[in-house]
Amino acid sequence: MLFNEEWDIKLLPILNLYKGRKHPLNYENHYQLLIMVILSTQDSDANINKIAPNLFAIYPNLESLAVSNTEALIPHISKVRNFSTKANWIIKIAQHLKEDKNIPSIMEHLVALKGIGRKSANVIMREMKLPAEGIIADLHVIRVAPRIGLISESKDGNKVEKQLIQVLPKEIWSEIGMSLSFLGREICRPTNPKCDICPINTNCNYNNSSNT
Ligand code: SF4
Repeated sequence: MLFNEEWDIKLLPILNLYKGRKHPLNYENHYQLLIMVILSTQDSDANINKIAPNLFAIYPNLESLAVSNTEALIPHISKVRNFSTKANWIIKIAQHLKEDKNIPSIMEHLVALKGIGRKSANVIMREMKLPAEGIIADLHVIRVAPRIGLISESKDGNKVEKQLIQVLPKEIWSEIGMSLSFLGREICRPTNPKCDICPINTNCNYNNSSNT
């Protein structure tokens, strides 16, 4: 797990496969992205995609949320896990930012918002095509990166991100987190990973050790 292991070259096949692919959240602008990322914490992207059209028909921008309140918002997100807490966060964020154009563009300001941790901030920055200040470490990345042999096991996303930052060059930070996440969603599933069709199978510890 050293920087000189040329992981950028070994991981190139998944970067080529997934680079630039839009996040599975069906957002249409940065405002929707921000709100959907907050709602999707501990919930599924598919569920948030389902409730989003109605939510954004009522609340098309931060301005409309800023003049609303938690009680009015809750019925529109009541099918989302922890909806009450998330409604509070969203209203507070809207009152703080006031307008869509004030959505932060750097890590420090994003993580200062209620309900936004480093994972969410990294997702937002990647989708907004901003220079990466970290690496997305979602549940898929937490599972896949140790399997490959990139890092050691940890269930803590922040610790996983720290390890990834140590072994991967900054030039690929923006895309590698989401590439590992897509790999985990589509190929490197929790059980029965499809190693035979995996584009990085020759450089994966899990696959190499199960073939010896
Ligand atoms: S070779 Fe198998 S275990 Fe390794 S990353 Fe690919 S699917 Fe996952």
